[in-house]
Amino acid sequence: MTEEFDYIIAGSGCAGLSLLYRLISNESFQHKKILVIDKDLKNKNDRTWCFWEDGEGFFERLVLKKWHNLIYCTEDLKVDAQLKKYEYKMIRGIDFYEHVLTTAKKFENVVFVRGTLNSIHSTEKQAVVKTSTAEYKAKFAFNSTNINIPKFEKNNTLLQHFEGWVIRLEEPFFDKEKATLMDFSVSQEHGTTFVYVLPITENEALIEYTFFSEAVLDKAKYEAYLSQYLSKILNGRSYDIAHKEFGIVPMSLTNLPVNHPSNRRMINIGTSGGFTRASTGYTFQNIQKKTAEIVAKLEANKFPVPRETFRDKMYQWYDKTFLDVLISKKIGGKEALTHMFKKIEFESILAFLGGESTLKQELSIMNSVPLAPFLGSGIKQMIKFNS
Ligand SMILES: Cc1cc2nc3c(=O)[nH]c(=O)nc-3n(C[C@H](O)[C@H](O)[C@H](O)COP(=O)(O)OP(=O)(O)OC[C@H]3O[C@@H](n4cnc5c(N)ncnc54)[C@H](O)[C@@H]3O)c2cc1C
Repeated sequence: MTEEFDYIIAGSGCAGLSLLYRLISNESFQHKKILVIDKDLKNKNDRTWCFWEDGEGFFERLVLKKWHNLIYCTEDLKVDAQLKKYEYKMIRGIDFYEHVLTTAKKFENVVFVRGTLNSIHSTEKQAVVKTSTAEYKAKFAFNSTNINIPKFEKNNTLLQHFEGWVIRLEEPFFDKEKATLMDFSVSQEHGTTFVYVLPITENEALIEYTFFSEAVLDKAKYEAYLSQYLSKILNGRSYDIAHKEFGIVPMSLTNLPVNHPSNRRMINIGTSGGFTRASTGYTFQNIQKKTAEIVAKLEANKFPVPRETFRDKMYQWYDKTFLDVLISKKIGGKEALTHMFKKIEFESILAFLGGESTLKQELSIMNSVPLAPFLGSGIKQMIKFNS
């Protein structure tokens, strides 16, 4: 038997649950039948999201910590910036999952199914979603699962891979008002490599050792690099590890075949929907913007596909140019970013990376990096873009 719904949310991670929370928070959707399917229970603290925004966000109550000071540093440079417009914020995965799931379970119009999806098909009027034991139909299926993700090619994709530890010290050590966005004072032998230092209290911080490179490392290597880095910055002080997380985010020159017109009733969202910024891996804030747009379109009875503007295409071109420079090893990420952070205000860089910059800011950023490697890659990616 096939069960029918108004909307199916396939995948209840960041994108699926952000969309669900926006739907249940809006009275217009409280009579809509919503099915949420995921293979996992979402009861583990599997990731920590950091992002920046101007003012309060939709999930403000879940923000564990926010900072008004950000640091970029290398061995020879320290940029310590006070933010005026943006706040850099942190939300723990488990707090987000628990809050959204507990709230949604009170709504009778929302049904949860635990299962692995095998396929999602789109007909003219419906999406058809199948697990190995059941079939569901809906007016729209919003998909953030691994179904339909294209195969990334090794020659035009870098991986952003990172291991993060929340560490606790007995004595106060960290300046909890300042977060380090990128500490580049580490070996670059595996490609662009930097560390986030995100103090939650004076005794506790999330330290994330991050690489942009072709291949992931052996698990033991991340641990060794992190231990080494911690002995350096903590000057031998001892610490406990309260939490560990690991992530791989593809940074690709290939555009995801996001929402194909022939598949009108299945709308890809989240990483599967191309909401990840290719040059940085940041996704959380884009998920918020796009799911808000989807809900607004549903409410207005419009087709709920996030629009892709000319400005979006420009940001894609900037990202592809940066990735092409890194992949072809014309210049390292540390060198390129250091040029940028030396000359450009921190908040202009955040605006740029968040897709909220002005053309003037973008021109200054382009001017701040060495011309030769970026010009060649920029032209190459522009030609590919238009072909
Ligand atoms: C460790 C880590 C840290 C990150 N930190 C940041 C950060 O600080 N800031 C930022 O902006 N971004 C960050 N990201 C990137 C991005 O924000 C996250 O990956 C985010 O969770 C993406 O949301 P999503 O909904 O697209 O995917 P997910 O949150 O991964 O959700 C996908 C869901 O689909 C389910 N699923 C997959 N396949 C199937 C299937 N076949 N059947 C049923 N269910 C399925 C999964 O169980 C999962 O629940 C991080 C990523 C990782 C891995």
